[in-house]
Amino acid sequence: MANDLQTTSSPVRNRVLSQLAPDDFEALKPLLRPIEFRGRAVLQEANRRVEYVHFIEDGLVSHLSGSRTDFVETAMVGYFGYVGVPLVLGTDVSSQRSVVCMPGTALRIDADDLARVLADRPRIREEMLRYVPALIAQNTQSVLCAARHEINQRLARWLLLANDRIQSDVLYVTHELLAASMGVRRASITNALLQLEADGVVEKRRGAVRIVDRPALENRTCDCYHIVRDAYDRTRVPECDGHHHDPGHGMIAGTA
Ligand SMILES: [Zn+2]
Repeated sequence: MANDLQTTSSPVRNRVLSQLAPDDFEALKPLLRPIEFRGRAVLQEANRRVEYVHFIEDGLVSHLSGSRTDFVETAMVGYFGYVGVPLVLGTDVSSQRSVVCMPGTALRIDADDLARVLADRPRIREEMLRYVPALIAQNTQSVLCAARHEINQRLARWLLLANDRIQSDVLYVTHELLAASMGVRRASITNALLQLEADGVVEKRRGAVRIVDRPALENRTCDCYHIVRDAYDRTRVPECDGHHHDPGHGMIAGTA
């Protein structure tokens, strides 16, 4: 495959990759494969071996925890993070399912390749671990939120977290997906969205929700949003605006 490092398009957007030291990123780069993921694609099955780490560049992936008959979203992953945390923690089985919530792209590395690089370059593991407390905060806050907070607050939290990760005011989500993510009835989501729309906070579109008034949405969320946001802010390396690494090759479509 021709990897012309001089003629590439955009820099790496993923926060974890962009915060790596340049030489660490150079060591990973030949092993990263750009992929596109489509709606509802499963990046990781629960209780299965983790074969890849996906560094999310664009789009949104949901971590789902469930029983045999039911599931609920415990966290969402966008370009702040990656799917495949168990590998960095020293296990190769995931307890959760990771499903695409909004289509996007990722840089994917094979688990064995990553293990080889991590053995030589412990700083990469340290950088990848920086993300884990934020993910744990999101998981635990999801539990509190589901147990204690009203659907209107929870919906506002979900839309804000997604908005931060997508960096677009138009979120391509259906009422069904929102209801399934939050473990509530579809009618509850519809009513909550109708209220937000009547108040001029969001605008419903076919298969999408547009955030019209973000400050108003922030006023309606429970504190869970701010707690999770602050946890993710702590994953930033101080005074590091990222190294703007270059991915170094073109996109291969439809691999996941
Ligand atoms: Zn909450």
